[in-house]
Amino acid sequence: MNRRDFLKILGLFALSPKKIYSQNRNTKNAVVVGAGIIGSSIAYELSKRGVDVTLIDKNLPGSGCSGSSFSWINATYPKKPYSYNLFSQLGMNAFRFVEKELSLDIKWNGSLEWSSKKEDQEKLIDSINELKKYPKYTPTSIIGYKKARKLEPYINFERNENIIFSKADGAINTNDAISKMIDAIKKNGGSVLYPCQFEQIIDSNDSFNDNQRTSTGIFKSENVIFCNGIDVDKSLNTNFLKKPRPGVIIKTEPTENTINSIVYGPKIHAHQQRNGQIIIGEQITAPIRENSESHLKRISNHFTNMVDNSTYLNSSEILVGWRPIPRDDIPIIGRFKSKSIYVAVMHSGISLAAIVSNLVTQEIVDEVDSKLLDDFRPSRFF
Ligand SMILES: Cc1cc2nc3c(=O)[nH]c(=O)nc-3n(C[C@H](O)[C@H](O)[C@H](O)COP(=O)(O)OP(=O)(O)OC[C@H]3O[C@@H](n4cnc5c(N)ncnc54)[C@H](O)[C@@H]3O)c2cc1C
Repeated sequence: MNRRDFLKILGLFALSPKKIYSQNRNTKNAVVVGAGIIGSSIAYELSKRGVDVTLIDKNLPGSGCSGSSFSWINATYPKKPYSYNLFSQLGMNAFRFVEKELSLDIKWNGSLEWSSKKEDQEKLIDSINELKKYPKYTPTSIIGYKKARKLEPYINFERNENIIFSKADGAINTNDAISKMIDAIKKNGGSVLYPCQFEQIIDSNDSFNDNQRTSTGIFKSENVIFCNGIDVDKSLNTNFLKKPRPGVIIKTEPTENTINSIVYGPKIHAHQQRNGQIIIGEQITAPIRENSESHLKRISNHFTNMVDNSTYLNSSEILVGWRPIPRDDIPIIGRFKSKSIYVAVMHSGISLAAIVSNLVTQEIVDEVDSKLLDDFRPSRFF
């Protein structure tokens, strides 16, 4: 989507004037629970709008799912409903703005996806054909291995003639992004506290503020935004999420330039950050009974099959990330039961973080409803 279309869609759909909650008041405050990519992005956008924001995390920022993510920014799959795919497309554009503001490390070199199994390859092509029926979609073409080799000289495409090339996709260094957002939040006057665990909301007699008990004391705030991933159900006593699905991610020591884009082969997917680290994920759900050594061995074998002249991986981190997956797979974003409690939890949170934080900030600061979020409201579950 080009910049003009992006701004047009935001302008057309962003605000629903019918649902204004109250007159804007000048001073606003918010506590954001969870310093993953979603909470950090929201706290950053709120701080830019002058909100007195406190971001808390029970562990280190980025230590949840975000720090163990593959970190691919894309809208290549025909997610349903169309509004979800469109949301991902807007997410890619929104990242371009944050990238500039914070000098984020994002490589926009596109992605190449293929499969060695005939039925999986057919499914891939079908999904691209489905994608192309949408009113708007990311530019995607099918190329042969010779053309793909020009983009990725070290990758073994197994003479595949139907490689999906999605040229607008990006890969971000998520931990670096979270740390830059946190620096900016502090610079804008906000606070970032960790370890600080949200425990419970306690009733307040004040109609504007809620009190939250945390491990470091009681906070009074007119907005509490829950971005605590797989722990959101525990915090709110809800049943929003499926059982989280684990995935292994290996980060290597910095190495010479081998991979330009995102390569998504038959068993593993990989990209290389600007700092030289290669990030590798696997298609299968993590076999969590196996230990780190066997994850490394398994993935190293796949890597040497996919990348010419490669050797056993020199890993710096072997991580298992737990995906927060909504019960119906669709993002959960919006107010929950009361005006002061807000939820933002989703899978593909890396792709969506920039647009989510933009719209959530509009809703909180301008006290309006964003039509772009209509299909994602938590109210669908109760
Ligand atoms: C292997 C793997 C690969 C993935 N690949 C991609 C990809 O390529 N592209 C993509 O878009 N998405 C991908 N995802 C999904 C994506 O990483 C997640 O959707 C995203 O990271 C969720 O971010 P979050 O901020 O909501 O949650 P998290 O990063 O989990 O952050 C939640 C934070 O809340 C904190 N917390 C929890 N409870 C409390 C409490 N009570 N008090 C205070 N703090 C609390 C936690 O410590 C944590 O830091 C992948 C996920 C995995 C596991």
